[in-house]
Amino acid sequence: MTTTQPVNPVEVARIALKRLSERGLPPTPENYAQFYNAIVTIKSPETKNNAELQNAWQILVKLDDAVSDAHETTTELVEALVAGGERMSGSLDALQDAKQAHESRSMSVEEAHTALESLLNELIDSTNDIHSTVSTSTADLRSIRDAVKHIEQDLAFNRKMLEQDALTGALNRQGFDHVLATEVKRAQRHNSKLAVVMFDLDDFKLINDRHGHLTGDQVLIHVTNLAKAVLRESDVLVRYGGEEFLLLLPETDVHGAQYVVDRLRTVAHRTPFLHKNQRIDVNFSTGIAALKAEENGRALVLRADEAMYRAKHSGRGRVEVAE
Ligand code: GH3
Ligand code: MG
Ligand code: MG
Repeated sequence: MTTTQPVNPVEVARIALKRLSERGLPPTPENYAQFYNAIVTIKSPETKNNAELQNAWQILVKLDDAVSDAHETTTELVEALVAGGERMSGSLDALQDAKQAHESRSMSVEEAHTALESLLNELIDSTNDIHSTVSTSTADLRSIRDAVKHIEQDLAFNRKMLEQDALTGALNRQGFDHVLATEVKRAQRHNSKLAVVMFDLDDFKLINDRHGHLTGDQVLIHVTNLAKAVLRESDVLVRYGGEEFLLLLPETDVHGAQYVVDRLRTVAHRTPFLHKNQRIDVNFSTGIAALKAEENGRALVLRADEAMYRAKHSGRGRVEVAE
């Protein structure tokens, strides 16, 4: 299947009608329009030139094919079972007739024996047919299940890529939005603590200006690694902006968050980034906020952000706690 063909409306209409009939849906204008639009969306990858969306599109196509295959396989299986069932009930009727004929003595023992034998053969044949259809369908369904499993893995991988910052591997804003909602809900349900730390590197522009943008990039990776080293498994590190990071700390209050920030400062001081044997020190301004009852995630992050700006404007290298 090529990914760059222009969309042909006749082809789309044909596929839409085929899909409708496969799913046993009446070709009403509403059903038709729904399928038509879905297929046009799937078949128009050129409107989405970004690589991740391309991947998502390919997965959709694979999924659509797998569902279509599953539908065909189950339809075949059902048809075979119905046909086999009809043959069997025909054989059973004949068996019943033969028994009655024998009981009313209109059939000799030999005749009854012959009739019985051919009925048995008939039964064995149809059972064999059904058995082989079931085996083939089972194999087909297994391979469809494997295909769907691959699609799930692809989806999980794509999702990870979409939610992760390419330079540092920290979570990006998009990934964070999802985690934040989950963690806030969890904290409120269990009545537990949740803290947000925002920190922005001080005078980072100077580091770029003095050592070059590539070295600046290395410093950002270095800071990410230091942060990872001081965090717990359940803590979340987010690259919130260019040189601005966020920590989401479950089960942590303001004091716990302050402790994490102190640790990060100590570790950063002990392990500076070295460039041409010269240490590049990074300082940062920090804002801390702890989740209040009934507060939503957005408000919590906003308070941490405001506190961080206060720390910036009151001289940098400081920590401010939201009220
Ligand atoms: P302040 O103390 O006020 O935060 O000063 P600052 O220089 O850190 O802040 P400013 O907002 O003036 O500049 C941020 C700099 O961070 C400028 C921008 O080029 C740089 N930056 C943002 N993202 C990246 C990146 O991915 N790599 C590199 N090397 N630099 C980045
Ligand atoms: Mg900065
Ligand atoms: Mg900044």
